[in-house]
Amino acid sequence: MQIGLNTVVSFHYTLRNSAGEVVETSRDGEPSLYLHGHGTVMPSIENALDGRQVGDSFTISLTAAESFGEKRPDSIQRVAAKYFAHAGKLTPGQVVRLNTDNGPITVTVVKVGKFSVDVDTNHPLAGQDVSFEVEVVDVREATAEEIDHKHAHGAGGHHH
Ligand code: ZN
Repeated sequence: MQIGLNTVVSFHYTLRNSAGEVVETSRDGEPSLYLHGHGTVMPSIENALDGRQVGDSFTISLTAAESFGEKRPDSIQRVAAKYFAHAGKLTPGQVVRLNTDNGPITVTVVKVGKFSVDVDTNHPLAGQDVSFEVEVVDVREATAEEIDHKHAHGAGGHHH
């Protein structure tokens, strides 16, 4: 079965940075699951998967603009230390998840003060060309409920 609108795709991926180092991989756990055609994964990945089928393996190279964005120069922000209570002792260079009113973001610690922390809000991979190695593990028709919810259900997908 081919990947197309309203199919549920299960795939393994390995993300590498511009130096070729593995940044993230699904290989150490369940494959990733998503509902195709609804913009729930990075658009460049969704486009590359369109029309593929089970067993297909490929690598795509993406520019910064196509993946995690260019570096913004005005990205250093001072945040009250209390927002980092969950992260323990911080060190410069550390990557931390921070909950904001607009949802969680990934930031890099720049400077640690007594009452505040300076962080770089650029994504750690901003400004870098990256590559994704992808293997299609399974493709199936979405259920009516999944199409209604606009996400995939099951292991590796959305849980309620
Ligand atoms: Zn749902």
